[in-house]
Amino acid sequence: MPSRRLFLKNTLLAGTGMLAGIELWRQWLPFPDDVVGGSTRWPAVIATWDNRKATAAAWQILSAGGRALDAVEAGARVAEADPNDTSVGYGGLPDRDGNVTLDACIMDEFGNAGSVTYLQHIKHPVSVARRVMEKTPHVILSGDGALEFALSEGFPKENLLTEEARRAWEAWKVKSEYRPVINSERHDTIGIVAVDAQRRLSGACSTSGMAFKMRGRVGDSPIIGAGMFVDNEVGAAAATGLGELVLKTLGSFLIVEEMRRGKHPQKAVEKAIRRIAQKYPQQARENQVGFVALDRRGRHGAFSLQPGFNYALFQAEQNLVFEAASLFAR
Ligand code: ASP
Repeated sequence: MPSRRLFLKNTLLAGTGMLAGIELWRQWLPFPDDVVGGSTRWPAVIATWDNRKATAAAWQILSAGGRALDAVEAGARVAEADPNDTSVGYGGLPDRDGNVTLDACIMDEFGNAGSVTYLQHIKHPVSVARRVMEKTPHVILSGDGALEFALSEGFPKENLLTEEARRAWEAWKVKSEYRPVINSERHDTIGIVAVDAQRRLSGACSTSGMAFKMRGRVGDSPIIGAGMFVDNEVGAAAATGLGELVLKTLGSFLIVEEMRRGKHPQKAVEKAIRRIAQKYPQQARENQVGFVALDRRGRHGAFSLQPGFNYALFQAEQNLVFEAASLFAR
């Protein structure tokens, strides 16, 4: 005859099995909170700043059932090719010696990652980062090595310094003061993360870095876990703003870990911004950092140190731009 202890043990085991079953089911089937405007929250794509052209390019792929990885690459390429975006790719403002040097990274649903730092003369660093991920045994290629690799992959060598950027650099040289600008034209580094119809997550980040930086400076954007991070079981995050603050706190990794512990993406991004303010109060007061995040259910979050950070979200057939809430008021 089964003892009471055995009965209890079996009941507990059955209970655990049921919970695991619910969890498994929950992974794949939408709950009411997973639905907006009559459709699931996925696919979805979110990008730093008003990068609606980028989210539109990504959506074309996502809405056709494509892979999130292709979507984020396509989105980042839009910003890279835009001469009016003075913080990314072609048209990016140079370092203090007049060199346009680019940083970018990409990460897929399997946790594969690729990155280029201090890359010159190549318009689409995000695509070079993808080749690093897919075709080399490495994660990061830098400087001349990255350029050599890009050329061997057939990327054309181009002059990325536009006349406008050159003029801005000439004007800057008059005083030669390095002072990172908060919300520079509200059009900055692109960090873009997406979840596709099959709930695969990917992310990318691309930048020309801080305008008039020291020669050789690399920021957060190409560093996996700082400028961008993806964990397909959880979610993805990306950053913009003063890279030094993001590097010292590994913001994107922190956000994904907070989501892993059950936090909503909004709470997770707030945590990363608060961490910066707590560790570096003075720098946090004087600079901007903004994060965007998406979880695998398509819920999103965005938050910044200073007001003025906005982001683009394409979800449920709508491509919208929103103002992010911020820690400080101006
Ligand atoms: N995070 C970038 C960097 O520090 C700059 C930016 O977002 O504008 O290189």
